[in-house]
Amino acid sequence: MAVDLSHHLSVETKARLANPMKTIWRLAQGKLKAGAITLANGDPHPSLFPLSRVDFHIPDVSVDDPVEAWRHGDYQEQILSTTVSGSSPLALRTAMQYCAGKGTTELCNTLQELNLVLHTDVPQNNVILSVGNADAATKCFRLLASPGDNFLAEEFSYPGITNSPLCHGLNWVPVPIDSDGIVPDALDHLLETWDSAVQGRRPHVLYCIPVGQNPTGGTLPMERRRKIYELAQKWDIVIIEDDPYYFLQFDHLPSQEPHTNGVNGLNGVNGHSKQKKWIDHFAPSFLSLDVDGRVLRIDTVSKVIAPGMRLGWITCSELFHRHLESLTDSSTQHPHGWGQIFLSELFRQPPHGWGPDGFLRWCEHLAIEYKRKRDLMITEIRIGLGDDWGTFADCDVPAGGMFVWLRVNVEQHPNFASDLTASDSLLPQTNTAYLMKELFQSCLNNGVIVMPAATFAIQHQFRRPDETHMLDVRSCPVLLKREADDRAQKSNFLRLSFGGTDDAIVKGSSIL
Ligand code: PMP
Ligand code: PLP
Repeated sequence: MAVDLSHHLSVETKARLANPMKTIWRLAQGKLKAGAITLANGDPHPSLFPLSRVDFHIPDVSVDDPVEAWRHGDYQEQILSTTVSGSSPLALRTAMQYCAGKGTTELCNTLQELNLVLHTDVPQNNVILSVGNADAATKCFRLLASPGDNFLAEEFSYPGITNSPLCHGLNWVPVPIDSDGIVPDALDHLLETWDSAVQGRRPHVLYCIPVGQNPTGGTLPMERRRKIYELAQKWDIVIIEDDPYYFLQFDHLPSQEPHTNGVNGLNGVNGHSKQKKWIDHFAPSFLSLDVDGRVLRIDTVSKVIAPGMRLGWITCSELFHRHLESLTDSSTQHPHGWGQIFLSELFRQPPHGWGPDGFLRWCEHLAIEYKRKRDLMITEIRIGLGDDWGTFADCDVPAGGMFVWLRVNVEQHPNFASDLTASDSLLPQTNTAYLMKELFQSCLNNGVIVMPAATFAIQHQFRRPDETHMLDVRSCPVLLKREADDRAQKSNFLRLSFGGTDDAIVKGSSIL
């Protein structure tokens, strides 16, 4: 049973009126099935959609290594098809029509079933579609953020998403991380020492990226996840779990174990698929730990199918689901029909689609491919640095995702200065930020583009609910200036993506 978390809803959410036409639309669904006639909706009739059939050509994943076969053009093709009113679970007439904000019932049911395959347990299995995780996160922020609220995020995070609620008056509070991700004791300390009289409402939401964190590449181990969930209960925090790299986890890949494939290469011994064995090693998602209904998990197909698919799903409690659907009903509406058809067909059991096992098989081989690229990048950088690896630069080996977080040991630079000011001054203590800018510029001049850590630094904003514009850091209290400086001192990293071609990885690493 979910606990009552309605006090987390934002001013905007509480003020939102349900779209009255969608309310009637929902009421009508049962009546229509019983033979009622509708004169209510401005829906174009499907007989006037100039569409008769859609086919998606995809690789057959029952071969030994579908990603390798696909890359070399040596693959069997499988076709996902649907027609206007054919026997597909999601015919064109349904997929291309208006529907409720959550998306078609057919695809939502399919994704609920997928959730049960992916996670050990899903106590709160209510699904609403999104236009990818950027859209999903933005909607979750609007669901929960009132002006002047404080939200927690890893101290380096993904600005494409963390920027979005700033104009709604949200303040970010950076949470210390190490190479594994959020440090639970630091999170507890931050909340324990929070002074509401000075700092405003205690943070009530944590936005985090648990696998292959963007930008640092860290993956939260099981123990930390359990502790963070316990802290969320202790301090009454809602967790937004943004997990686009969930399927790109590099440990325990089954293809590195002896083959035990059965029919079509998809099923292993004792009825357990090998892919299921692989994901059984993943640390549990926050969703699967969630007994209270305080987790909003956001999934996307961007990194495992294609970003242009613009489709994802949010899984959450019934309360949050209802309000997210209301927001969607009065804004973007449900996502496009093309993607809903694609995913519905893709998750049909073979021979129609890949089914969950075939999808995981594709993901497993993608993960093998990304792991190979990760190793190539780290090897190339190590070769380039030779004996200076560890002196000039080094990195941890990411267990998932698409990024290497390269530590640049700026103190080795001949122009490094650490005694700029006395420790009680408000000026930066070292010239790390300046040297990193210089390095970025030098890379650019030599033909390689990298992402400097400063791009991802979460700056603690400081703004009360009645203040409409953000305060400049120079007018912030001393404490916050120190914090900003602290982040600058930690910004001696570059985020390097190993998502490109081998050629780009080798040449780029060499220039770097
Ligand atoms: N504006 C008006 C006046 C409408 O009638 C409708 C659809 N009934 C919309 C907007 C919604 O358009 P869309 O389906 O492109 O979101
Ligand atoms: N969240 C994180 C952490 C990401 O790294 C990305 C893409 O880089 C996104 C969300 C965006 O995902 P989507 O394409 O599903 O909007």
